[in-house]
Amino acid sequence: MDPVQVAADWGLKVAVEEFGDAARAVAAEYDPRLKTIRVNARVLGDRCDAAGTLAACVAHELYHHLEHIGCVRSRPGGRQREALADAYARRYFDLAVDPAQVRRTLER
Ligand SMILES: [Zn+2]
Repeated sequence: MDPVQVAADWGLKVAVEEFGDAARAVAAEYDPRLKTIRVNARVLGDRCDAAGTLAACVAHELYHHLEHIGCVRSRPGGRQREALADAYARRYFDLAVDPAQVRRTLER
């Protein structure tokens, strides 16, 4: 299953955008109001596995969409919640790139 296709099937847009300096370390974000998954162009720019990176980011954000619509219980606490989103992404999609690794790349 391709997470980008799943996003489209669920009525979500996927947009690659420049996040700017304030959000340099954010790989992607889910905007429930605009039903959009925004992916930081910085994580894709210089990677030879850009397609895999995009898929990993979108798969992770799909979990936040499921939280938003109440299909999974939303939990407070940033780190644990992000780990759950990563686990969801790995479990349901055949990813070439680990979503947690994408974030670690940005934290450098
Ligand atoms: Zn997340």
